[in-house]
Parts: sequence; C-alpha cells; structure tokens
Amino acid sequence: MTHSFTESDLLQTAGKTVDPVFQQPLSTLRTLKEASIADGRITITVELPLYGYPQKDELTTAIQKTIADAHSDAGEVTVDYTVKVRGKDSGGSIGLKVKNVIAVGSGKGGVGKSTMAASIAYGLKELGASVGLMDADVYGPSIPHMLNVEGQPAASEPSPGVMRIEPNVAEGGVKVMSIGFFVKPDQAVVWRGPMLHKTLTQFLKDVEWGELDYLIIDMPPGTGDVSLTLSQLLGLAGAVIVCTPQQVALLDAVKAISMFNQVRIPVLGIVENMSGDVFGRGGACEKAKEMDVPFLGEMPIDAQVRIQGDAGNMAKLFDEDSSAREPLMNISQQVALGVAKKLLEGGSMPTLEIL
Ligand code: ADP
Repeated sequence: MTHSFTESDLLQTAGKTVDPVFQQPLSTLRTLKEASIADGRITITVELPLYGYPQKDELTTAIQKTIADAHSDAGEVTVDYTVKVRGKDSGGSIGLKVKNVIAVGSGKGGVGKSTMAASIAYGLKELGASVGLMDADVYGPSIPHMLNVEGQPAASEPSPGVMRIEPNVAEGGVKVMSIGFFVKPDQAVVWRGPMLHKTLTQFLKDVEWGELDYLIIDMPPGTGDVSLTLSQLLGLAGAVIVCTPQQVALLDAVKAISMFNQVRIPVLGIVENMSGDVFGRGGACEKAKEMDVPFLGEMPIDAQVRIQGDAGNMAKLFDEDSSAREPLMNISQQVALGVAKKLLEGGSMPTLEIL
C-alpha cells in the first residue's frame, strides 16, 4: 500500500499532538524520535523524558487520532516508546555525570525523611532509572543501616594523583555514599561548618557515581547549611519536603520550603508521611495547596516500613505483596514527573539579595 505522505510528513503531523501530561505539542517537547513506514504500516517512536510516564495509553490514542485526522489513508498506526531521562546535567562543572540531583528534606527530624529518601531511590530504580543515594544527614546517618550496606568504600587511583572513592552498592543496585561508612555507628561526629562543606563537596566530586539519571540526597533536617553548600556546587533539580500531617509538623515544613527558596533550590513538592489515625490525614495536601506547592502523595503509617527499615531490608517494601509498594511507587513517580515538569518550565529561580 502506498501513501500520499512521506515519513517526514508524518513527523510533522504527529508533532502537533498535544502531550496529555505536559500539555504541549510533541514537537515543542522534542519527544518524537522517529516515524517509519514499512510494508505500508506506520510506526511512530516516542522518546519519553522519564520512566513512569503516567498516560501512555492516552498519548498513543492522541497520536493515532492526530494522524488519522490529517491523513485519511494512514491505516493502522503503532506507537512505540523508548525512555531517555532528561535533566539539567548541572553537575558537569564538578565532573558529576548525574542528570538530576534531588534533595529530600524536612523541617525537623523523625518525620521519616531518610525512609522517604531511600524509598524514592528504590522507587525510581523500580521504574527503570539508574539511581544513587547520598546520605548528607551527617548528624544522624541512618541510610547505611536501613539499606544494610556497610564497610569503608574502596578507593581507586585511575590516573596518578587522581583519587576516586567507589560508592557502596545496596541490594537492588542503588549506589550509596554516607558518612556512616567512615564512623562507627555509636560514634558522634562533631562537625564544623567548613568540614561539613568539604565532606559534601568530596561526596559529589570525588565519588565515582558514574552516569546516573537521579542522585537522591538525604538532607539533615532543618538547617540551611547543607542546602547552601549544595546550591553553590550545582543546580539541583529540586527538593522534596517530607512532613507528617499534624499542624505543628506542617509549620516546620513551611519553614523548610522557605529555606529551600532562600538558597534557590526549586521545591518539587510535599510528601505526607505517616498519615493515619494517630497524626490525622490530609494536612500536608491542604498546606501544599495553600502554598501553591505540588502535593506528591502520602505514605500511611505502616508497621512494615519501620520493621523493614530497622532490619535493613528497605528493598522488601517494594515486593509485589508489600502494602507499602503502591504508595511508595506513586510518590516516586510523582517525584520523577515533578522533575520533568520543572525542567520544561525552565524553572529559573529568582535571585535573592540576601545571598
Ligand atoms: P528522619 O529521617 O525524618 O529522622 P526516619 O526516616 O529515620 O526519620 O524515620 C523515623 C522512624 O519512623 C523510623 O523508625 C522509620 O522506620 C519510621 N517510619 C518512617 N516512616 C514510616 C511510616 N510511614 N510508617 C511507619 N513507620 C515509619
């Protein structure tokens, strides 16, 4: 069967399809990879900018409709998908080959920030991305315990005088770096500002992270110190704020948002953790609306989360029969989506005079 149009005509036509998630034409999004006609059959290939794109079926239907409306002799159209995560690649200046660096912060301790940072890392990995997890919660590095990774990371010298640190790898293939690998679990670390700055800089510059789609950073609660260091080193994709539903905790979350704004790290949104009978439910969602910040989902109180965290078995939360899987996958997907949306917006932050 011969058509009245060429492959390049098809690209032009398909490019007019409005993406149901990003609400922009595919030509603007530059997600159309290829149009081919083989044996009279049309195949359109779309390169999605993230794993976990939520409306594939709708996009397929929209593309098919655009083509059918423009070319009555098109026949059946197949839409294939590939994924290439997009990012700011903003660590390039310090040699970091990570597309998106995401900070996970909270206004105060104990809200499940480390749990959520580890869960988002695993969740993004489950969706198909390559992921690293950096524990910058230097005052209480709990990541090594939760993920059951220990031991001093190996050092290598790829060329004379160049020292690299190899991150440890947790079950499931998430690369991990933590100050906890260098101190005993019961040893308190007294940090002076410059030491903190130097260590975090080293964690980003000297650790062999390799090429990653996402590097998740578990931030210390509250303080702006670490955020400032990070924002000076690289342009973060954004910050996720974890909070619990009760009013007091929400006030702390508001402070955390203001802190990230001050150091010019875009806020991706709020996650409500431990929602349920004890703390109430929905407070974070309301607060997010009030502050015009996206709400990224909620994780109910679930004994499994504490049990698996304590046992160093966080990966188990993602087993098919785990009650925590669905809410955690949902949050991870919303984070990936938030990053992609911020990137499309161009997300340049206002300059603040006080810095
Ligand atoms: P933070 O990093 O904010 O100090 P953690 O991630 O260390 O908090 O979590 C504090 C405690 O709460 C841990 O014992 C953790 O297992 C538990 N926890 C976190 N989220 C949940 C949840 N959704 N349900 C039950 N326990 C949770």
